[in-house]
Amino acid sequence: PQPPYKDGVPDMYYKPSEPVQIPERKANATFVMLVRNSDGPNIMNSMKQIEDRFNKKFQYPYVFLNDKPFTDNFKKYVSQLTDAPVEFGLIPSEHWSQPEWIDETKATAAREDMIKNSVIYGGSVPYRNMCRFNSGFFYKQELLQKYKYYWRVEPDVKFFCDVDYDPFLLMQDQQKVYGFTISLYEYEATIPTLWGAVKDFIKENPELLPADNAMPFISDDGGVTYNRCHFWSNFEIADMDFWRSEAYTKFFNFLDSRGGFYYERWGDAPVHSLGAALFAKRDQIHFFNDIGYRHEPFQHCPQGDLHKNGKCWCDPGSNFDYEWYSCLSRYDKLF
Ligand code: GDP
Ligand code: MN
Repeated sequence: PQPPYKDGVPDMYYKPSEPVQIPERKANATFVMLVRNSDGPNIMNSMKQIEDRFNKKFQYPYVFLNDKPFTDNFKKYVSQLTDAPVEFGLIPSEHWSQPEWIDETKATAAREDMIKNSVIYGGSVPYRNMCRFNSGFFYKQELLQKYKYYWRVEPDVKFFCDVDYDPFLLMQDQQKVYGFTISLYEYEATIPTLWGAVKDFIKENPELLPADNAMPFISDDGGVTYNRCHFWSNFEIADMDFWRSEAYTKFFNFLDSRGGFYYERWGDAPVHSLGAALFAKRDQIHFFNDIGYRHEPFQHCPQGDLHKNGKCWCDPGSNFDYEWYSCLSRYDKLF
């Protein structure tokens, strides 16, 4: 038997896709994927879902970032998944390395201690480079300078529902700066001195905090202690100009100078979340309730009409929103 079509010529079995009508109004936005060459198949898994559930209709570009050059094979197969522009960037080594002023003896001791205590990624320097990069350097990459909004996508995540509207335009039109799907508690062992540093920063720069910020999301006692709540940063739809602002720039530089990315294991999730909670107005932080999403081992599965409207394929009974380890109820209470 003949294949359904040959040499690109449709025969009677071939049903061509409808030509896509790209919306006239779009935001200045891109997907951002930070990955290794070895993450190829895993990021394609995520990207295919992004394309099918959303981007086929919207055609937002992709920026891939890596601390090592991408291979030709990686670039070829990833680019084949989309009709949208795809760019590949090499991260400058000064954005992806332990600063020379870090006391290596102290950093090594901290890593060994964390290995002993089975802290996840506790012994890894590359993981620390990654957390510092995502906290303070990704939005400084050359390829991202032309963009304002980004959607961060990691390898092997799942998108359960059709996204039939433009979340970037939602961010823009409603002046949102940070969007999330899952929030939870950080491991204390990775951030013992982070909140002390944050308090020192606030004392020095009180004018950078708007009165209606999201402090109650991160502190249950008006800023005395950190409740360890943070937005899970493997999913982010956010405004890079917020990270580029004076407030966040000062904040990141201050934290970086404390060395906690290496003497401890500060994650980009708490650092971004603290930045968003302190320097944005609370109504600028958006919960993407309609975006069904999973990053192991947690998922947000839209409920009720949202589940139906998105034609979601997740089990509505499996939903992290109000599990004991979730911080979503603290977000709800802001409003
Ligand atoms: P987890 O989600 O905290 O378990 O960490 P991941 O292993 O998923 O890493 C977070 C993100 O950083 C993912 O997008 C990874 O692909 C990426 N990543 C982690 N380590 C490296 C690295 O050494 N090089 C590059 N280029 N990307 C990395
Ligand atoms: Mn991950």
